[in-house]
Amino acid sequence: MGQARLRGTPEQRKQAAIERQLSLRPKYVKCNHCQAELTELQPIDISGMRGIEAAFAAHCPHCEHDTFAIKGEPEAVAQMHMAIEDAAGSESLAGVVPAANRK
Ligand SMILES: [Zn+2]
Repeated sequence: MGQARLRGTPEQRKQAAIERQLSLRPKYVKCNHCQAELTELQPIDISGMRGIEAAFAAHCPHCEHDTFAIKGEPEAVAQMHMAIEDAAGSESLAGVVPAANRK
C-alpha cells in the first residue's frame, strides 16, 4: 500500500523482509489435514511478491502434509495459494492463519 521501502542491496532488502516476516509469524497454524497444531513455521521467501506481507510453511509430522500460512492482501494471498498448489501438484491446501484480525 504505497509503503516506502528501504533502498539497499538486494541482500539487505531480503534480510529486512525476512525480519518483517518473522515479526508477523503466528504462534501456530492448524494442519489442514489432521488439525494438529504446527508450531514449526518456516518463512517463505516473498521478495518480489506484491501484496504479501508474510508467508510461512509448516510441515505436519503426523500426516506429512504441508500447510501454508500467508498474510497479505486477499487477492495476493489467493494468487500465492494458487502458485503453491501448482508447484506442489495440488496436494497442498492453503492454510488459514488463526489471526487476531479475524473473527
Ligand atoms: Zn497433519
